[in-house]
Amino acid sequence: MAELTPMMKQYLEIKKDNPDSILFFRLGDFYEMFDDDARLASRELDLTLTSRDHGKHQKPAEEQIPMCGIPYHASEAYIARLIAKGYKVAICEQMEDPAAAKGLVKRDIIRVVTPGTVIAAACLDDKSSNFLCGIYMDSRAAGVAFCDISTGKAHLTAFTGKDRLEHVVNELGRFSPVEAILNDGAYAEKGLTDALAETFSCRVENGGERRFLLAEAEKNIRRQFGEEALGRLPAGTPAAAMALGGLLNYLYETQKTDLSHINDLDYYEQGRFMELDLAARRNLELTETLRAKEKKGSLLWVLDKTKTPMGARCLRSFMERPLLSVTAICKRNAAVAALVENTIAREELIAALTGLGDMERLLGRIVYGTAGGRDMASLRAAMEKLPAVRAQLAAFSDRRLAELTEQLDTLEDVGGRIAAAICDEPPFSVREGGFIRDGFHQEVDRLRHILKGGKGVIAEMEAREKERTGIRTLKIGYNKVFGYYIEVSNSFKDQVPETYIRKQTLVNGERFITQELKDLEHSVLTASERVVALEYELFTQLRREVSDQAARIQRTAAALAEADALASFAAVAVRRGYCRPDVDESGVIEIREGRHPVVEQVLKDTLFVPNDTFMGEREERVAIITGPNMAGKSTYMRQVALIVLMAQMGSFVPARHAHIGVVDRIFTRIGASDDLSAGQSTFMVEMTEVSDILHHATKNSLLILDEIGRGTSTFDGMSIARAVLEYCADRKLLGAKTLFATHYHELTELENTLPGTVNYNIAVKARGDDIIFLRKIVPGGADRSYGIEVARLAGLPEKVVQRAKAVLKELEEENGVSYTAPRRETDQVSLGSIGEGEVLDALRRCQPDTLTPIEAMGLLYELKQKLS
Ligand code: ATP
Repeated sequence: MAELTPMMKQYLEIKKDNPDSILFFRLGDFYEMFDDDARLASRELDLTLTSRDHGKHQKPAEEQIPMCGIPYHASEAYIARLIAKGYKVAICEQMEDPAAAKGLVKRDIIRVVTPGTVIAAACLDDKSSNFLCGIYMDSRAAGVAFCDISTGKAHLTAFTGKDRLEHVVNELGRFSPVEAILNDGAYAEKGLTDALAETFSCRVENGGERRFLLAEAEKNIRRQFGEEALGRLPAGTPAAAMALGGLLNYLYETQKTDLSHINDLDYYEQGRFMELDLAARRNLELTETLRAKEKKGSLLWVLDKTKTPMGARCLRSFMERPLLSVTAICKRNAAVAALVENTIAREELIAALTGLGDMERLLGRIVYGTAGGRDMASLRAAMEKLPAVRAQLAAFSDRRLAELTEQLDTLEDVGGRIAAAICDEPPFSVREGGFIRDGFHQEVDRLRHILKGGKGVIAEMEAREKERTGIRTLKIGYNKVFGYYIEVSNSFKDQVPETYIRKQTLVNGERFITQELKDLEHSVLTASERVVALEYELFTQLRREVSDQAARIQRTAAALAEADALASFAAVAVRRGYCRPDVDESGVIEIREGRHPVVEQVLKDTLFVPNDTFMGEREERVAIITGPNMAGKSTYMRQVALIVLMAQMGSFVPARHAHIGVVDRIFTRIGASDDLSAGQSTFMVEMTEVSDILHHATKNSLLILDEIGRGTSTFDGMSIARAVLEYCADRKLLGAKTLFATHYHELTELENTLPGTVNYNIAVKARGDDIIFLRKIVPGGADRSYGIEVARLAGLPEKVVQRAKAVLKELEEENGVSYTAPRRETDQVSLGSIGEGEVLDALRRCQPDTLTPIEAMGLLYELKQKLS
C-alpha cells in the first residue's frame, strides 16, 4: 500500500467498500476501471484492456494494473449493458473541481446502479415496470415488497400459514422483479432463490437480517410513506413491514439521493386479486408465448392498444392482477362499456392520449436528480396535452371515468413554469448551458448579451488591428492553452507592433497577446462560465419546484394511465366484436359463441369456430372433453380460462354473450413441459403440478386439466386420471369447476356415475382415411382417437402409417374390441343397462395372467359397478 500512488490508494479504499460492484472511477472526462473490474468490463463491453503503472516507481509490465475506461458522457449506454447482464455498477465521482482542488481530488460513490434501481431510460422497457423486491421470511410469516423507483410505485403484502412460500412465488409472478433482496430466512429457501434466478432471471442478494430489523423498518416506512402508511399495515405480522424495511434500507444505501417520489404505498391483502401460479401464467400465455417467449401471440399482444407507456404498464398490471370483487369488476367494465358506446368521444380521447410522454418516469428522473433539459421539455410537452385529455374524459358520465376526470389535474401552473424557463429544444446536457429561455431571467440575458457582444468586440478588434498594423493575414483565434491570441504569418513578421507580446512560434507564423485582448478575454470568458453556472442553478431550482408537485403529477399520471388502459380495452372490444360480460357470484360460467382471443387473430386461411360453454355450481361442473388430436381441445379449454380472466380484469370478452361467476383462482395443467434442468422427469413435473392444483384449488376455482396421466403406462395413467377426476368432481373433497381433456375414452363412462360430470367432444368427420376437423364442441364422448389419421396428416412415412394400422387391427382382434369403429351414443351411456351377461362376457375376455394388480382392482370395481 505504501508503494502505491495516492490516487490508487484512494481507489482501493473506495473499492473495499464496494466489493460486489464494478467501480466506475471518475478521472477527468473518463470513468476508469481497474484490475478485476477492468478485466470483467473489457470482456463484457468489448473494451481494450490497457495497464497503468500504479506505484511511485516504474514497475515491470506484469505488475502493472489492468485498466480500461469509457468517456463519461457515453457512460449511460455502457452501464445499461452491464446492468442488463445482472451486474451492479458503483459510480464514483470527483466531488470537487480538479482545477481548484489542492492535492488529490476528493472522490466518492454517488450511487450504485443495480438492475432494480436503474432509472435511465436506456435501461428500461417503456411498457413494463422495473421492480426491486424485498422478501422477508421466518418460521411463521412471509412479507414481500415491490418498488419501481422509475415510477415511484410500491406494493406490499404478507402471508402466514404453511403455504406462504407458494404464495410469495405467485406474487413474484405478478410483478416479475429484476432484483431481489432477501433476509437469511428467505435466502435459505431454495425453492425461492431458484424461482427468482431461473424463472425471473432476477439478481438475488442476501441482505442478511441487519437490513430487515423491525424498528429500523418502521422508521424508514414512516420516513418514506408517512405515519398513516405504517398504520395501514396489519398488526401482529411484522413480516410485511420488515420486507419493505429491507427494501428501503437497500435503496437508501445504494441510491444516496432524493427518493421522495416513492410516496404511495399500496398494501394489499390476500383475496383482493385473483392469484395465478407460475404455471397458469405461462400456460395461458398472458404476457409472452410459451415457446418463443415473445409478446406477439400473447393475450397482452391482443389487448394492449394503449397510446402511452403509462397506459401500457397499467393495462399489464390489470392483467397481472385480475379482480375478485364483483363491484370492482363491474365498475371497471362499466367504464369500458361507456367508452365502447360513445365512438366519437372514445376516438377523440384516444387521439388526445396519442404521443403523450411518460410523465411517471420523467418525474422519477426529475426527483431523483438525473433529468436533463430534454426531460423537462418532454414533461412540459406532456402537460400541454392534459387539458385536451381532460376535456375528452369529461364527455363521459360513467362513474369511474368521472372519478378519473376529477383526479386528472391539468397542471397548467407546473407546465407553464417549465415552459417559461426551458427553451423549446434544449441541449442534452444541463452542464453546458443554453437551455434557459431568453427573457426568463434577467442576469442570464445580460450575460448572454455580453457573450454575444464580447465575441463581436473581438471580431471588431481583429478588423481594427488589421487596419492599424497593415497586416492583412492577422487574425484573432482561441485555444485552451493561451485563450485568445493574435496570429501573424511569417511574411508580416516585421510589421508586428512592439506592444504585442509573443507567446508561441509556429511553422508559418507567430502568436501574440496584448493587454487589451486579455481584458476582453476575461469579460467574455467569465460571462460564459457565469451563465453556465447560473443556468444550472436555475435548473436545480426548477427541478425542486417540480419535485414539490410530485404527488399531483403522479395522481394525474395514474388517471391518464387508467384512462388509456380502459380506452384500449374498449378499442379492442369494438374492433374484435367482444361483448360485455355479466359478472356475479353465481358460480356459473355460461358463454355463448366464445372464441379464443389470440387463436382467432392468428388463423390465416380459416375462420375461428365459436363454441358454447356451460359450467354450473352443481350440474355440469366437470366437463370431460374427448376428441382426436388437433381437434381443438386445448384451444377450447384455454379459451374458457381466458374469457373468465378477461372478465375479471374488467375487459370485454370474445363471445356473443358471457355470464361469469367470479372464480378465485385459475389452475392449468397443460402439455408436458420438461424440467430436466431441475432434475425432474416430464411425468414428475406433471404430477407435481397436479398435486399443487389439488392442494390449493377450492370449489370456487376453475381447473384446466389437459391429458393428465399421459406420461406413464396406460393403466397407471388412466387410474390416476380417473382418481383426479373423481376428486375434482366430489363436492365434499374439491368440487371445483373443471375442464378435463383426455384421450382415455374409458373415462367418459364417469358421466353416468359421477354427479356433476358431463361429456363433450370436439366433432370431426371421417372421410376415408382423412379426417375433417369441425372444431365444434358437442355433447357426448368421442367415438375414437383418429391418432393414426392425424399422424398421417403430420407427414409420418406411409410405411409407418400402414404398419400402425396393421398393429391396431391385430390388437383389436386379440382383445375382441374395435378401437376404430364409431361407437354409438348408446354404447357410452348404457352402463346402467349393462346386465349380468355383459359382466360375464367381460370376465371371459379378460386374461388374469396379463393383468397388473392395479388393473385387476380397476376391473373388479368396474364390474361391480355394472352390476349395482
Ligand atoms: P392435441 O390433443 O394434439 O393436443 P388439441 O385437440 O388440443 O390437440 P389444439 O391444439 O387445441 O388441439 O388445436 C389445434 C389447432 O386447431 C389450433 O392450433 C388451431 O389452429 C386450430 N383450432 C382449434 N380450435 C379452433 C376453432 N375453434 N376454430 C378454428 N380453428 C381452431
